[in-house]
Amino acid sequence: MAKPKTPGRSPRERTEMPSQTASAEGSRVVEGSRRPDDERFDRLFRPTSLDDYIGQEKHKQNLRVFVEAARRRNEPLDHILLCGPPGLGKTTLALILAREMGVTLHATSGPAIEHKGALAGLLTNLQQRDVLFVDEIHRLTAAVEESLYPAIESYSIDIMMGDGPHASTINLPLQPFSLVGATTRTGLLTAPLLSRFGYVMRLDFYPVEELVRIVQRSARLLDVAIAEEASVEIAQRARGTPRVANRLLRRVSDFALVLGDGSIDRDIAVESCDRLEIDQAGLDEMDRRLMSIIIDTYEGGPVGVETLAAAMAEPRDTIEDVYEPYLLQQGFIGRTPRGRIATRKAYEHLGKTMPVQGGGAPPQGTLF
Ligand code: ADP
Repeated sequence: MAKPKTPGRSPRERTEMPSQTASAEGSRVVEGSRRPDDERFDRLFRPTSLDDYIGQEKHKQNLRVFVEAARRRNEPLDHILLCGPPGLGKTTLALILAREMGVTLHATSGPAIEHKGALAGLLTNLQQRDVLFVDEIHRLTAAVEESLYPAIESYSIDIMMGDGPHASTINLPLQPFSLVGATTRTGLLTAPLLSRFGYVMRLDFYPVEELVRIVQRSARLLDVAIAEEASVEIAQRARGTPRVANRLLRRVSDFALVLGDGSIDRDIAVESCDRLEIDQAGLDEMDRRLMSIIIDTYEGGPVGVETLAAAMAEPRDTIEDVYEPYLLQQGFIGRTPRGRIATRKAYEHLGKTMPVQGGGAPPQGTLF
């Protein structure tokens, strides 16, 4: 069925892309992180050049300059850190940078580099100017991170030979390479690591117009006809995230094939999203449940994140990394020193009446 139409550049990158850890939210259509069934389509949908990469114009202009300068000097790219929520195109950019440089991308992730020996193995394998892509770089252990410093500063690594009283350290030179780190949690990066990146690129949620272009491009790659208004409906529900847009498109194209003739018009798009219980703001049942808990159980908040996590039966990290970012960014919930609150927008979205200020809200210091 799906057949790639992108020019057949040789896939020089090592392919073992790190998968996200499984969790209870893993089956959400609107989840931004990579799921096992995304792998095949990620490969199909991934833009292969900066020209093909939609949006992020300012950063793209800078990256073009850095690539051109590095190529002219025959040097590796400066080390680059890509920050932002899952599904916004960090891995894609790393692949593109390696391709534009004409070098090999070696992809790994922070948790996959378990000890210094594993790091040394990776680093000594790099050829001149190659790109080492470390996803979730904030999850490197302190020991691994420390041995990475000399590698990225002066292209050398200290290796321990033997153990006990006969142990000795040798300093091994490395090929000049470029580190491209990606993180969803810039705040968790240590200052020494952060300061070693020459360029820090923060990716933000995409505006609807850009997501429309992404949906149309992906539909072309899937060989599916899609009406302009249908791509707008999908883009509006994609939570600012290309991966969600692509996943929604795949689900909608399933409905189009079974319920119609395979092409996607506005009605099919809307009906499919209704059946998937994804509303016009891109919120699914879990988002609505989180907002309802704050409103109905905790009278609009503030409610501490631990309490909220217990009420949702999810780990705290999942609340903070998966559910909250989009709800916060869209202003459905707010963060205060005493916990999360539901905003007027959340009440309106759920069709609930917001208590009058000072009247309905519980007095400060109330226990429950
Ligand atoms: P991340 O590494 O940030 O989690 P990925 O790079 O894996 O995200 O991107 C997720 C999916 O979204 C990929 O299939 C990719 O094709 C698509 N994508 C991301 N950013 C863009 C973009 N700017 N233009 C087109 N497609 C994109």
